Amino acid sequence: MSFASLGLSAQILKAVANKGYDTPSPIQAQAIPAVLEGKDVMAAAQTGTGKTAGFTLPLLELLSKGNKAPAKQVRALVLTPTRELAAQVGESVETYGKNLPLKSAVIFGGVGIGPQITKLNRGVDILVATPGRLLDLYNQRAVNFSQLEVLVLDEADRMLDMGFIHDIKKILAILPAKRQNLMFSATFSDDIRKLAKGLVNNPVEISVTPRNATANTVKQWICPVDKSQKASVLVKLIKQHDWQQVLVFSRTKHGANRLAKNLDAKGITAAAIHGNKSQGARTKALAEFKSGDVRVLVATDIAARGLDIDQLPQVVNFDLPNVPEDYVHRIGRTGRAGATGQAVSLVSDEEIKLLRDIELLIKQNLERRVIEGFEPSHNLPETDLTRKSHGQNKGPRNSNSRGSNQKRSNSGGKPVNRQGQGQNRSQQDGAGKVEHKDGQRSGESARGHKPNDKNPRHARSSKPGSAPLSGQRRTRRSDNSTQG
Ligand code: AMP
Repeated sequence: MSFASLGLSAQILKAVANKGYDTPSPIQAQAIPAVLEGKDVMAAAQTGTGKTAGFTLPLLELLSKGNKAPAKQVRALVLTPTRELAAQVGESVETYGKNLPLKSAVIFGGVGIGPQITKLNRGVDILVATPGRLLDLYNQRAVNFSQLEVLVLDEADRMLDMGFIHDIKKILAILPAKRQNLMFSATFSDDIRKLAKGLVNNPVEISVTPRNATANTVKQWICPVDKSQKASVLVKLIKQHDWQQVLVFSRTKHGANRLAKNLDAKGITAAAIHGNKSQGARTKALAEFKSGDVRVLVATDIAARGLDIDQLPQVVNFDLPNVPEDYVHRIGRTGRAGATGQAVSLVSDEEIKLLRDIELLIKQNLERRVIEGFEPSHNLPETDLTRKSHGQNKGPRNSNSRGSNQKRSNSGGKPVNRQGQGQNRSQQDGAGKVEHKDGQRSGESARGHKPNDKNPRHARSSKPGSAPLSGQRRTRRSDNSTQG
């Protein structure tokens, strides 16, 4: 099948050819004709499947045929959970639409609102936005949706996971009832289906990856190693295999900083990207990583969301994620759109329960490779997929939990607490201190303020050992600098 056979115009085909794509990916082959027919679409597709072009190309095609957006009006709205993803989708819109006279804009928080108001004033055919800033702009009457034709909800599962449900509902309430709706989600949990009910109308359902499958183009293995040896074994692996571009996942922000410093000191250029970094610092780190000036990017889960680095060859899990589904998302950073990639997890004995849950989820035992000189003194027990896990970490499902994902992820059939100790989104970093998970919103940021070290209330909320901010309005599980 070719892109030309999908009914796209010459200008779009030219832009696609320029990108070097010759064959539509499965999601594109199915979504593009459905969107062009004006149907609602509900698609289960992970990042890496080409889903962005799957909705952007037909969107551009449809919009190129109608009237341009009048002042303050938006014709198509793409909602994304994170700033990085918004920027990424915005880039795709620019790239694929470069031969068309359509106007697009990207808006998210953490940057000045003035230029965004100016852009919206002129009218925007495609607006890519994170929910928080979009609502701010709407409340300031900077944008009007009365002529909206299409709504795209990208990474809907992440939207819910990050607590955006209230913002999404508010946004839906201000959109015209008659519109085309496209919803993309890595998985279709019960919560997502519930959201879809009030959103899509008689949708074409598309599923291109089995639920929670990892791309089979990714070679995955684990390296059993003592916790204290993880940084050293990573240095050895990078040097030994001459890995030039490595995305490393750290569970915590402090851990990410520490590791980046450590690598730098060993002569491996590294940068950390997480929610405590300013938007400018994050953009710079990503650009340097993409250009090859920085060899290792150490990221937390939330910060890494939406990073689209073409053909990323190497992903390393410095720590295993607390939620097994995050493993699948992390691995999705490599082996994208058919390219091969490698994902290595450094696993210490205390992570055995996390490992077991991941293996149960992906239904495979990961190959183990012990690195010479780094044989663990604390043995990593064998995992057996036929046996149920021991059920450490079981506890009451916390109010911020991911809903059905949690239930699904627990082999014992009971809900798993992210940390197992009722700490909501706080978690232990490597040194045993309690730290906000990247993505956790402090009391201040939940009210829209930037976290400020000088603010005693904020300082208190992130102090080691402090209790989570229970009773806060459950808004965004936000990383103040990640979301709008
Ligand atoms: P996405 O799933 O939208 O994040 O896309 C994943 C990656 O696949 C991006 O780097 C795209 O540039 C690339 N891509 C999208 N469509 C195609 C295609 N038809 N052929 C080759 N690469 C593609």
